[in-house]
Amino acid sequence: MSHVQLAVGEVVDATNWKVDLPESILESLSSESELEYPLIFALTSQTTKTHVGVRQFSAPESTITITTPIAQALGLSIGDIVKLKHTSLPKGSAVKLKTETALDWKPLLERWLPTNCTALTVGDTLMVSYLGQLHKAVVEELEPENAVCIIDTDLDLEIVGGNQQFDTLTGFEYDMPIALSEVPLTKETPDYLFVEATNGVLYVGPELATSRESFTYRITGTRELTASDLKKLGPSFSVCGYGMATLTLAAPAVESQEGSKLCPVCSKWVPEQSFILHTSFCQRNSIKCECGQVFSRQIPSDHWHCPVCSANGVGFEEAHLKEHEPSTCSCGFEDTFLNVAYHRASDCPERIILCRFCHLSVAQEIASAADKVLGITGHESHCGNRTADCHICGRPVRLRNMEAHMQQHDVQRRSRGTPVTCKNQNCVAIVKDESNALGLCSKCFGPLFSLDNDPDGSRLRARMERKYVLQLSTGCGKSWCTNQYCRTGTGIQRSFKDVLPIVKELLLMNAFYFCVDQIMAKKAMFVYEDGVYDRAWRSMAITQCSNETEAEEWLQTHAPKLGEAV
Ligand SMILES: [Zn+2]
Ligand SMILES: [Zn+2]
Ligand SMILES: [Zn+2]
Ligand SMILES: [Zn+2]
Ligand SMILES: [Zn+2]
Ligand SMILES: [Zn+2]
Ligand SMILES: [Zn+2]
Ligand SMILES: [Zn+2]
Repeated sequence: MSHVQLAVGEVVDATNWKVDLPESILESLSSESELEYPLIFALTSQTTKTHVGVRQFSAPESTITITTPIAQALGLSIGDIVKLKHTSLPKGSAVKLKTETALDWKPLLERWLPTNCTALTVGDTLMVSYLGQLHKAVVEELEPENAVCIIDTDLDLEIVGGNQQFDTLTGFEYDMPIALSEVPLTKETPDYLFVEATNGVLYVGPELATSRESFTYRITGTRELTASDLKKLGPSFSVCGYGMATLTLAAPAVESQEGSKLCPVCSKWVPEQSFILHTSFCQRNSIKCECGQVFSRQIPSDHWHCPVCSANGVGFEEAHLKEHEPSTCSCGFEDTFLNVAYHRASDCPERIILCRFCHLSVAQEIASAADKVLGITGHESHCGNRTADCHICGRPVRLRNMEAHMQQHDVQRRSRGTPVTCKNQNCVAIVKDESNALGLCSKCFGPLFSLDNDPDGSRLRARMERKYVLQLSTGCGKSWCTNQYCRTGTGIQRSFKDVLPIVKELLLMNAFYFCVDQIMAKKAMFVYEDGVYDRAWRSMAITQCSNETEAEEWLQTHAPKLGEAV
């Protein structure tokens, strides 16, 4: 795809670094060969250039929909022309961001970045929304290049500027009853929450996205939210509802029931020694409604029993009845107000999800029973059926199977047997067969080979002796030689008399020190103790690949690390 010119059709008030493009762009891309996901586009205005991801292909023809931060960064307003080009970027390894506000940036950005950005470019000014406020973060440095893709990569985050201390957040207090309202109250998501909504209903959902129609949890009575429940809410969560609720960061201690008796009137556990006193007081002062709720002295006038379900309460009867009213979802699903809200939060086909394969925000569509078992949405089911070539074996693999496929490669990698290298310490060739008893590669053994009848190997030993004597006294004369047992390699001049004892020692060793040709000498420089891979694997890598960069990559995908082999 060459450059396309588009007019800014709309600037949406969102914080992500993504654009909406016309469908025709997707069509023209689809006609190209294998598409690489996520899709990344270079976006150029008259003043600046950046790289963006795509949210949807739904913009009117010839126009582009951008978000406020992109508009600000590129100095764009509606009607301006931008140049767009499909491109691919290397995976980012590190990013340095400059901020002004005091926030716990790292955990926030670790979640915010992959959902809101596809690519980063040095100079981008991101607007990170947190607790309803926007916080500026400028991309100062990136590795390995000035523009990188940040999807499916481990980003090393460095934050400079701003105070790294966490702000005290406004919202509600823990351990204190709060009067709930339609306006959601927000807090940083804890690891555990004990919720008590004894009178009324508490809705719990992600930050600022919680309402009676949109929530993750609806709680009446008491409920424990564990770390895995709370993880679904994101870095901060909010609550709204009606009635009163108390949120506690620890489970209330279970009252000891030993030495206690259950009061038949108020259903509370009462210490045995004060039981008689309590029950007589309770009987005189309490009144139990037919529904089981106990009130002191009299039943309040706004106490109600729902005619539809088994709920009862004090006040907020209208709010409760609303949940039974019929309602229709935008997808056509009809049920009660409450069930439609549950439906929207779960299997409404129009619910927007971030697809794990194409990384676009898309409607989740309808999941089949099999998809549900796999935990993927309807969209992801067909999106994941597209194939991409495996970067290790080159075979086409369905995106949904890629993870399992990579795991297979990993098992293969770890279970590979260590290769055998040439016994010549200056040579890194791989010995595939045992054509000679010395364990040398064919190239190193070649000069020692003879068709002579040599039953006890004495002639072979004589040839080696001659070779060593020549190496140590005269040298191989090759400028690249670094052999520690060669006159050329060491530059040490030795007399014939000095050479003989060294040769004798060499012949007793189970290793050899012969000079090698220039290509092998260069390859041998790649083989050293790196503390990660066995030398034999480094030998294998440089033998298989045409240069050191390729060999390093080959090691990562093919060689087991030290201690990793199974
Ligand atoms: Zn009682
Ligand atoms: Zn009642
Ligand atoms: Zn009801
Ligand atoms: Zn729906
Ligand atoms: Zn998708
Ligand atoms: Zn593969
Ligand atoms: Zn060799
Ligand atoms: Zn030499």
